[in-house]
Amino acid sequence: MQSVNQVLKIYNSISGKKETFNTVTKDNVGMYVCGPTVYSNVHLGNLRTFTSFDVIYRYLNHIGYKVRYVRNITDVGHLENDEDVGEDRISKKARVENLEPMEVVQKYTYDFHETARKFNLSPPNIEPTATGHISDQIKLIEKIIDKEMAYIVNGSVYFDVLKYSKSNNYGILSKRNLDDLIHNSRSLEGKSDKKNPQDFALWKKAQPKHIMKWNSPWGNGFPGWHIECTAMSNKYLGDIFDIHGGGIDLKFPHHECEIAQSNVCFGTNAANYWVHANMLTLNGQKMSKSTDNNILPDEIFVKGSPLLSKTFSESCVKFFMLQAHYRSVLDLSNDALLAAEKGYNKLMDAINILEGLKDFSENSDFNIMEWIKNCYKAMNDDFNTPILIANLFDAVKFINKVNQEKASISKKDWEVLLSSINSFVFKVMGLQKSKLTNNDNSKINDVLDILLELRDDARKNKNYELSDRIRDMLKNKGISINDSNKDSSFIID
Ligand code: AMP
Ligand code: ZN
Repeated sequence: MQSVNQVLKIYNSISGKKETFNTVTKDNVGMYVCGPTVYSNVHLGNLRTFTSFDVIYRYLNHIGYKVRYVRNITDVGHLENDEDVGEDRISKKARVENLEPMEVVQKYTYDFHETARKFNLSPPNIEPTATGHISDQIKLIEKIIDKEMAYIVNGSVYFDVLKYSKSNNYGILSKRNLDDLIHNSRSLEGKSDKKNPQDFALWKKAQPKHIMKWNSPWGNGFPGWHIECTAMSNKYLGDIFDIHGGGIDLKFPHHECEIAQSNVCFGTNAANYWVHANMLTLNGQKMSKSTDNNILPDEIFVKGSPLLSKTFSESCVKFFMLQAHYRSVLDLSNDALLAAEKGYNKLMDAINILEGLKDFSENSDFNIMEWIKNCYKAMNDDFNTPILIANLFDAVKFINKVNQEKASISKKDWEVLLSSINSFVFKVMGLQKSKLTNNDNSKINDVLDILLELRDDARKNKNYELSDRIRDMLKNKGISINDSNKDSSFIID
């Protein structure tokens, strides 16, 4: 691999340590990431997790691995709560909105793809859906029953956690202790067919009014959420593959149960490296679809939100995310986004300056090779993007000095620096170049602010003819005025 002879280390949630990355097949990586449950729009928290894995995927490609990246679409089986009770999230949405489940799935899969494209996330190599793999899931469930690690009750099939844990370590990933789990489990009080509350569903019998159901050896029903990922990751990546990822909230029960299923079916933990991205919070609370504590991408990029003073570009939001390590919690706030925007613009300005440099010297006042080594060192240390960004800012400082004729650079170093910065910023981090420089941006913003103030004055003086004219003329140029906040703001198409 071309990462300047350094070793790549990845934090493995199973060992709780950074481990040297060795792949199952030389020069190849198999990576599975749990995808979205498509029952509502993706929020910025989901995007943070997908961005974290996008950067991992991009970096592995960059250093020369051939990566097969599989990210599924969960379109059935994810119930409202983790204890195998409640309605299927997609069925519920279909019922509430009077839609076909497939309409719900189509709508939000499309939304996810659109948002991922705007956010410049690389598409996975394979994007399987749970409903497209029902027979694979049924086969695995039969295998688990054959191995006597599951039992059938009244048309449903449950994984027997107590039995499994007699010869396996249930809790290997989440470090939860089975005795504690048993102790803390709520009593089922006849509400479930499970033998023990910690058992989990592999197949659930469908009630007559249930819309999404399939035929199976156990009658009409639908698969449990955990078995879908085991079936799809195994089908496309094999009995043991390299990386299994998802948000940290999936560690338990989802990933713990996947590991248990995989041990019964294939005698492996499915993946050698279990990688978890930490949460994006809002007001200190996890951003979540189900609690409404979230910001939708559209609100941040286009429409505006009461929580924000303005809109922010996709790259600026991505830059904000990558300033934190993927394993740290990150809180979203207007101030943090404003600070990230400043940093992002500064970086883009420096890249523009670097591209335009024409005066070179014999030597450089910057050790480019050492700098490149440090950039790789950051990424090889469990994909440490904040340290990479700190290194990029060392280069920004140098570029600005050269621009002010306080430092010099040779033609050869210039070529190397330019191509390395481009690689790290655009290829590895997946940022996109803003069309305007910081200077242009801030001047345009100043002019727009003046126009807004004049329009607000006109409205206050009830001169609606003038205020509407300003609004319409700007609209003709692709700039809308958002009057939904206390103070008006712009939306630039
Ligand atoms: P879901 O659509 O709820 O199944 O989630 C899709 C992915 O987004 C999963 O990997 C989750 O762990 C992740 N996720 C959900 N909420 C957040 C959040 N607030 N911050 C970061 N990742 C999240
Ligand atoms: Zn999954």
